Amino acid sequence: MNAFEALGLNEQLVQSVTELGFETPTLIQEKAIPVLLSGTTDFIGLAQTGTGKTAAFGLPLLQLIEPAQRHPQALIVCPTRELCLQITNDIETFKKHSRNIFTEAVYGGASIMMQIRNLKKGVHIVVATPGRLIDLIERKAIDLQKVKYVVLDEADEMLNMGFRDDIDFVLKNTINRESTWLFSATMPPEVRAISKNYMENPKEVTVGKKNSGNVNIDHQYFVVPAHQRYEALKRLIDFNPGMYAIIFTRTKADAQDIAERLVKEGYEIEALHGDLSQQQRDKVMGRFRSKNLQLLIATDVAARGIDVDAITHVINYELPDDMEVYTHRSGRTGRAGKTGICLSICHSRESFKIKSLERMINAKFNKVDIPSGKDVCRKQFFHFMDKLMQADVSHGDYETYMPDLMTKFAEVSKEEVLQRVAALEFSHFLKYYENAEDLNRADIRGDRRQPGREDMSGSRNERTNFNRRDNGYTRLFVNLGIKDGFYKASFLQFILDESNLKKEVLGKIDMRDMNSWVEIDKDAAGKMINALDGKRYNNRTIRMNEADGGFKRPSDEGRERKRTYAPKERRF
Ligand code: AMP
Repeated sequence: MNAFEALGLNEQLVQSVTELGFETPTLIQEKAIPVLLSGTTDFIGLAQTGTGKTAAFGLPLLQLIEPAQRHPQALIVCPTRELCLQITNDIETFKKHSRNIFTEAVYGGASIMMQIRNLKKGVHIVVATPGRLIDLIERKAIDLQKVKYVVLDEADEMLNMGFRDDIDFVLKNTINRESTWLFSATMPPEVRAISKNYMENPKEVTVGKKNSGNVNIDHQYFVVPAHQRYEALKRLIDFNPGMYAIIFTRTKADAQDIAERLVKEGYEIEALHGDLSQQQRDKVMGRFRSKNLQLLIATDVAARGIDVDAITHVINYELPDDMEVYTHRSGRTGRAGKTGICLSICHSRESFKIKSLERMINAKFNKVDIPSGKDVCRKQFFHFMDKLMQADVSHGDYETYMPDLMTKFAEVSKEEVLQRVAALEFSHFLKYYENAEDLNRADIRGDRRQPGREDMSGSRNERTNFNRRDNGYTRLFVNLGIKDGFYKASFLQFILDESNLKKEVLGKIDMRDMNSWVEIDKDAAGKMINALDGKRYNNRTIRMNEADGGFKRPSDEGRERKRTYAPKERRF
């Protein structure tokens, strides 16, 4: 017997789940379905998203509906529009073989008239967000008199979002309900109060430990000085080229700002925050859901109800203040039996938070080093080479060109071709990372710092690191910059032509409006200074000398590097 059939589900529903590829019921399904099928037992399911809870209530609900009676028999209330659409969508798939059951999603931000029209046609299941539901009740556009089953999904989130009165109102207005099913990731006293006030002898089922994080999640954290967070984030993104991730920030200003900086640097990322219109939000979510966008940066509020499978990583740009928020964030990954990784960027003073988190979710957090520039390069390099090997050449008319290509490359070895492909693809990238700072080294000092002196000592470290760097380069200051009509390539050409040196002697070049810094091989520095210092350029005397220790990288002043690395292909 099929395992879903054994739980009491009818043939049509079993057929649907089989087609969905569900082989065995998840724990919450196993525990909830037989109870809920009775139709008269109140139920509390302590389960996070990703545990299969939508099917746990959706399948029994569909079986209990009486199609002949065209009025709302079941009401599912959930916190956000996204979740509302997701639940509706899931129910539509579950009811593929169950005829004549109609569902309507009602949520804010969409035409209420359209929703009213659809409700009038006679629907059996209404999936609603609280605000819109109340609106419809007040307009008498929805009749809750004959609702038998009320499902509160993500009850803790709804209360967090201030929907307490709305939930009270709904429960008071569904006087003929035969059972109430409440699902929640956590059980704060407010949720407990709802169950006390409106439920009778509920059967309570907990999947995993209360407040526990998903066991499929690998929790890792990185300790960096606060001012290096952005650099650290970039490293983590670059080190995981296939990642499909949500990055969480505390404020929408951060989400917006980081997204803008990353986009300027060539990354494909979008921010999701409260200032977006519903249309913009849908567009962003559409791209993310379809995996046309691999990276999403969001605030906790904006990310509520985002229900996307297969997210490989959750990144905490900062640890949240509220430890429960961590559980919600990390629960976006490691779903449906898959494993996931939750990365948290912290500074040394946040270590105590890690300890409390470990206690709270009863899981070990692994301290991991921010990958070095070399590690990142290697990872990206092989990722690209893997893609090269997997490229689909079956659909192009490549054979036509092969004879000419073979002639052209007759004298070139395979090794050389590979090197050239790599150089084409990676020169920017390698250049950016070849002298990249060790972000962890600064942390070791940071750990010994006095509390409260983080930022000051952080920037001092930065300079110390710079002075101490012994990568064979020295830095030259030159009083030429963007305002002199240069851009990087033309500037590079100019200094090389003047000094008669080769490009290989140069490292990073940082250009500003009025002046620039040039990293140059120590042995070649003298020659370059001799060639340029004192020369005239556009009626100005060029001044070039070794930079003093007070040099600051542009990022220290909040400036962006210009397209230091532009990942060309960030899609799967
Ligand atoms: P949920 O917790 O309802 O958001 O479900 C998370 C994901 O698990 C969804 O993509 C479901 O399609 C999937 N899922 C639910 N039940 C099962 C099952 N029994 N076997 C495999 N996948 C499932």
